[in-house]
Amino acid sequence: MTHDIKSPVGHNRESRLFYQSRSRRPLIDRAEGVYMWDVDGKRYIDASSGAMVSNIGHSDPRVIAAMNAQLEKASFAYRLHFENDAAENLAWRLAERAPGDLERVFFVSGGSEAVESCIKLARQYALAKGQAQRTKIISRFPSYHGSTLGALALTGYTPMHAPFAPMMVDQPKIPAPTCYLDRDDLSDHDRGIKYANMLEAEIIKQGPETVLGFIMEPVGGAATGALVAPDSYYGRIREICDQYGILLIYDEVMTGAGRTGKYFACEHWGITPDILAVSKGLAAGYAPLGAMIAPDRIVGPVLDHGGFIHGYTYAGNPLACAAGNAVLDVIDEDGLLENAAASGAALKAELSKLSDEFTMIGDVRGKGLLLAVELVKDRTSMEPIDPKHMAAARLVDIAYDKGLIIYWRRTRGGYRGDHVMVCPPMTIKPEQFDDILVPLRAALVELQDELATAGAF
Ligand code: PMP
Repeated sequence: MTHDIKSPVGHNRESRLFYQSRSRRPLIDRAEGVYMWDVDGKRYIDASSGAMVSNIGHSDPRVIAAMNAQLEKASFAYRLHFENDAAENLAWRLAERAPGDLERVFFVSGGSEAVESCIKLARQYALAKGQAQRTKIISRFPSYHGSTLGALALTGYTPMHAPFAPMMVDQPKIPAPTCYLDRDDLSDHDRGIKYANMLEAEIIKQGPETVLGFIMEPVGGAATGALVAPDSYYGRIREICDQYGILLIYDEVMTGAGRTGKYFACEHWGITPDILAVSKGLAAGYAPLGAMIAPDRIVGPVLDHGGFIHGYTYAGNPLACAAGNAVLDVIDEDGLLENAAASGAALKAELSKLSDEFTMIGDVRGKGLLLAVELVKDRTSMEPIDPKHMAAARLVDIAYDKGLIIYWRRTRGGYRGDHVMVCPPMTIKPEQFDDILVPLRAALVELQDELATAGAF
């Protein structure tokens, strides 16, 4: 059984590029809205928005026009030489949208950079307050926070750590609230509190005076498959961080910029984190862009205490920020937050209906258009399918052949179980659902047969 697409279409030349492996992919020709075409004319529906990036769909002419206009004015202006309107405006607009006192914006080019920036700001804030012993950031297992060494140390995914472990700081982890696997008879509320209290136990174990912060994805991404905790979890986590003077960092790299139906996912629970990271949907794939947003009560002391010792060449890049502004305009003009909430609920209901047909669907979960389907051997016990079958990866590949792009990950261990992410652009309309559901159902039939033949059930 292979999960690599080995035969490239339309580009038989050997590649000089490399990514994770030797596998090749079809060559993209063009993309528009929720659809993409390869050079052989095959159409795909982008039901994962790339990697949950293309939130407003592909090739929106308004974004292209705004980027062209910026290119014609100034394609690049280095931040130590000039301020630029695009970055200044976007910072104001993000500060207006961010909850509570989150009002200072630090631009970066991607999610890992945003998380690295959170780590460094938290550390420099502790130093500014004379708390040099605070060095630890607690995170959850499983989780994904990025691939650079600092962000990777917070990422709860063992296989990605292995080669680099001797070069990395070992950061403490607590279990992610995978409540859907629990079989005790606690109420949702009590279960949320139970998982949140694991943070308090870990803080006490580590020594509260040594802990800098706690980082979490408000709705889990690819690591946990759109994991949403019970409502009680969010408030209790905030309370614990306040009680021990620990910074609460929300990694909204995937959830931010509207994907869950609110501009920031933290708004669902009325939580204001101390520091927030956002990226993917911010410029929605039109340019590489991310941001850290923090309150002046944290940024101020750092700036007054020798300055923020951190930064990237492309920070506040005018072209990327022009794209970010135009993406925000599109979200507002087209009511895409409302559509993400409504289409998300409707698509989730349709995906849930598939569970009636396929007993291997153990769970359908998520918020807005951050949705996941979990595959299991047995729905009652939630026993996972033997990882040797790579069930989720196989489903992604079968679907891809049918022109349906859903988000994949390999189950190489380190996570429990199999899930696929179904996260189309926030522009998706119910009349387009069949373009997702028909090939998905066909792919599930094929996978079920394959797994049955291989003795997986
Ligand atoms: N945090 C989260 C929650 C993510 O989903 C990702 C990317 N999947 C990252 C951080 C890292 O972002 P990037 O790949 O842009 O560095």
